[in-house]
This record gives sequence, C-alpha cells and structure tokens, in this order.
Amino acid sequence: MAARTTIEKLRILADAAKYDASCASSGTSKRSAIGTSGIGSTEGMGICHAYAPDGRCISLLKVLLTNFCTFDCRYCVNRVSSNVERARFTPEELVRLTLDFYKRNYIEGLFLSSGIIRSPDYTMEQIVEVARSLREDHGFLGYIHLKSIPEASPELIAAAGRHADRLSINIELPRTEGLRHYAPEKSAATIRKAMGDVRSGIDENRHARKSRLLRRAKPPRFAPGGQSTQMIVGADGSDDGQILRASTRLYGSYRLRRVYYSAYSPIPDASADLPPVRPPLVREHRLYQADWMLRFYGFGVDEIMDGGAQGMLDLAIDPKLAWALVHREWFPVDINRAPRETLLRVPGLGPIAIGKLLAARRHARLRLDDLARLTTSVKKLLPFIEAADWSPGSLTDSPGLAARLAPPAEQLSLF
Ligand code: SF4
Repeated sequence: MAARTTIEKLRILADAAKYDASCASSGTSKRSAIGTSGIGSTEGMGICHAYAPDGRCISLLKVLLTNFCTFDCRYCVNRVSSNVERARFTPEELVRLTLDFYKRNYIEGLFLSSGIIRSPDYTMEQIVEVARSLREDHGFLGYIHLKSIPEASPELIAAAGRHADRLSINIELPRTEGLRHYAPEKSAATIRKAMGDVRSGIDENRHARKSRLLRRAKPPRFAPGGQSTQMIVGADGSDDGQILRASTRLYGSYRLRRVYYSAYSPIPDASADLPPVRPPLVREHRLYQADWMLRFYGFGVDEIMDGGAQGMLDLAIDPKLAWALVHREWFPVDINRAPRETLLRVPGLGPIAIGKLLAARRHARLRLDDLARLTTSVKKLLPFIEAADWSPGSLTDSPGLAARLAPPAEQLSLF
C-alpha cells in the first residue's frame, strides 16, 4: 500500500480527534514571543475556537498522533476491533505541520491526543516529543494541550506537564462499573492515580514558584492551565445525578479546571449494548449549566437534581430555573438587601451582574430600571425578586409560572 500523504493523514486523524470535547484553551497564562527569539502567543488575537456542525469544538490544530490503538474501548471509534481507516504521524511530521499551520495563521495552538500503540509509555514518549520539540527546538510559545495516557509512567506525564499549558486525562465514564464493562483494559484507579500525580505536580510547581527562597530562579511552569477531563454522556446508562456526582468528586479531589461532557456518538459496528442513537445535545448543554451551578453558584448536586426527575435534569428549562420553580420558598429575593450567595440563586442573575449590583446598591436603592442596565434578562427575574419599585405579589407562587417561563417547544427548521 502506498504511504499516506500528510494531507491524507490529517484528514483521518483530525476527523478521529473530533470526538474529544476537552479542548477549550481558556485558563492558561499569558505568554507572547514578542521581543524573544521564539514564535507564538497565547494572547493577542487569542486562541481560536471553532465548532463543527455537530456542536463539537474543533479549535486549534486538534489531531491525534495516531488512531491505531491496542485497546478495545467499546464506545470508541478507534478501538482495535474497529474497521476504520488508520494513519499515524511521526512526531517530526506533527511538529512541522503545527509550525506550518501556525505560520499561516490557521491555528493558535495544538491539541494533541493519541490512540495507544506498542505501549502506553511508548505512545506518551511520542506525544511528549512533539511538545518538547515545538518548545525547545522551535521556540514555540503558543498553546499546547496534551492528552495524557494514564497508564504511562509518572515521569512521562511529568515531562508532558513541563511543556504543555494544559494536561487532560479522560475519566471516560462516570461510574467505575461502566468503565470496567465498556473499557476493560482501563482502570479507574489508574486514571485517578494519574490525575492525582498531575495535581501534585501543579500544586508543587505553584508552591515552588511562589517561594521567596526560589524567587531568583523560578522553576519552569508545570501545566499552568491546569488539568481537565472528559466524560462521555449517554453511553453507559448513568443518569445526570450520577454524572454530576462524579464531577463533584473530580473537582474536589483533583482540582480540575473543567469537566467536559461529550454526548455519546454512535459509532460504526458498535456493540449491541451501546445505545443506537446519541442522546439529545441539549442534555450535554444542561449538564454544562449544572456544572456551572456547582462551580460558581454554590449549589450542591442534590439541590440541582431537585429540579429534575428520576435522576435526570429537565431538558426543557435550565437547571437553575428548574430549581427555583420547586423552591419558591426562597423567593422573592430583595435585591437591595440579599447577600451575594442568595442573589446567586436567582434565575437570570450571574456573578458578573451580581458584582455590579452589589456595587451599585451601595449608593442607592435599586429599581427595575437600574437592574435593566446590569442584566439582559429583567423579565425572567420579575417573579423572583423585589426591588425599590417592584414586588411580584402572588406571581412567585402562581401555578402557571413554569409554563410562562419555559420557552415553547418549536419545530426546528430543516433549512
Ligand atoms: S484507549 Fe483511547 S483511543 Fe484507544 S480505544 Fe480506548 S478510548 Fe479509544
């Protein structure tokens, strides 16, 4: 068989990478090659993000080193038993491609993952070599996100952290039993151990860089954008409550920057115990909203799940509104007196608007007009707040409130 051209490899390996959702590049440190002999930047025009028609992020040069894999995870299109076109880049090819794309302004950085070839260590060495060469041989200062292979040695994962802005290790499925069933070569304990090692590396590095004694010779950064993970939604029958509980444990134990939720996509020749259709994309969206509530709004999982039924979030309305509708005893909230943590419970009010609101009310009692200048959704707030010139009266407890606030179902256009 004739050797594949670079463009053929790119077609196969960029397509294979689209199933990985964990590629947002926010959160890394600002860095620019201006005034240095290197190239690249994590700021300026910023890291570009693009979304494919199926809603997946395909920003950066998002590619696999190879889609050959010796593992047989049932939910994965690249599993060893899958009948897909295969390709493999050498580290040198990928370095060249990244630099060529960067110089043509196609990309702002690299997101690199891989199937497992020969051994986890061998594969991780190749991944690290791409990042090392970009940084050390070519002075590339752009964004690099490396997907780490949990079964690789801690030394290799540590080497990855020295070159990457962000590391991610995919947890894959929310429950250990699910992982055992669908990815028998993977081990939840090994994944957790690798995440723990990355967390220790990040913590130790931050501590060392802050240390007064080391101020003159700061150690190089270690994954300054932190670590993230991805969970596949809808493959193993886990409900939303189980998914959010798994996320809570991950945020707490490994201080992850993000958990990404990726709706399972049916794959060719899938095993019979996987669902034949993908879950609705809105489920992924509701999980992201609930995740936001966990991280920034002070909600617990049980509270969030109060707004759903049978372990699932309500797909028709956002989870914060769903919670408010079943906990009307919290409302109305007086926007001129309530503390920040109570204001965060009001549907339609977010941390930025609340920050402005708290600043503004130091000077005057706020009216609805004032609120309208701070947020875009005063109409949505009305049943849940009191202002200097507004009280919702019986509206807060009105039986028709849910129907009034829930957007009507609409037929999507085919054109
Ligand atoms: S190890 Fe990764 S690439 Fe290989 S089959 Fe499993 S999920 Fe797919």
